[in-house]
Amino acid sequence: LAKDLGGNRFQFYTPMLDGVAFRKIQLETALRRALAKEQLLLHYQPQLDLENGRMRGVEALLRWNDPELGIIPPCEFIPLAEETGLILPLGKWVIKEACRQHIEWLKAGIGPVKIAVNVSVRQIEEEDFIQYLKQVLTDTGVSPSYLEIEITESIMQNIDQSMVILHELKAIGVELSIDDFGKGYSSLSYLKHLPIHHLKIDKSFVEDIIAHPTQGSIVKAIIAMGHSLGFSVIAEGIEEEDQFKFLAEHGCEMGQGYYFSQPLPPEGIQAFYMKMLNV
Ligand code: C2E
Ligand code: MG
Ligand code: MG
Ligand code: MG
Repeated sequence: LAKDLGGNRFQFYTPMLDGVAFRKIQLETALRRALAKEQLLLHYQPQLDLENGRMRGVEALLRWNDPELGIIPPCEFIPLAEETGLILPLGKWVIKEACRQHIEWLKAGIGPVKIAVNVSVRQIEEEDFIQYLKQVLTDTGVSPSYLEIEITESIMQNIDQSMVILHELKAIGVELSIDDFGKGYSSLSYLKHLPIHHLKIDKSFVEDIIAHPTQGSIVKAIIAMGHSLGFSVIAEGIEEEDQFKFLAEHGCEMGQGYYFSQPLPPEGIQAFYMKMLNV
């Protein structure tokens, strides 16, 4: 009997492992297909100037609603895309689509809307990244100053190589932000040498700004440090008025979050933009 039980347990354990592996393979196959069939789309979240409430731009965020698997959130498919290398074609598509959308908005009398795109470190280290970016800007006719690149702190792991690429990006004229700042392990001594424009405070800090005074102090310190290094500061994940007020009072220039707007499809941005013009 004991042997039987053990056997059952073993059998129970194996299919579980297979389930995880199966889901991964299923997702990878579906993601490849979605990419080929252009079934992915971008939503855009307004980024506001906290001083005057004007829309300073938007952040492009990938959305995937698979016909068979349903909505898959970025926190599930982005890591998978990183692991499988699919992030490379995916990231290229994002840049091209954001530029296409910028021009489409322009034609509709919206903007020019500055678009921030998330770029993975793996993508930025790809040999033809700079060339590709330049090509898309030329082909679509987007002025580089309307494109912003968001990159996470993990860029600092390979700082010597990254520095060259970041300088090339700066030379093209696109803006650079360090995304999710404070969440990783930034080397502060390197930070001052990075050719970047903005620090983006991670939403985990913004969340507790009011409830936990120490978090508030950390945020104040990040803002002050950012400014003293010559960067402007943007906060993500602003959900409440108190958070917005705290950040504005302490000199954080820009912000985004559900308090202002969820990420929206392109038509939603058009409506948001018109509404802002009329206030
Ligand atoms: P992120 O770049 O830090 O983007 C901000 C995330 O916070 C987005 O999640 C956004 O929808 C969410 N958010 C916005 N306002 C609020 C708020 O007020 N409260 C809370 N709790 N969340 C808010 P999303 O769209 O699920 O994306 C998650 C992450 O996936 C992104 O984090 C980014 O790291 C990655 N990602 C999304 N699109 C792309 C892409 O095109 N390329 C790459 N490489 N990564 C992407
Ligand atoms: Mg981002
Ligand atoms: Mg972020
Ligand atoms: Mg974040």
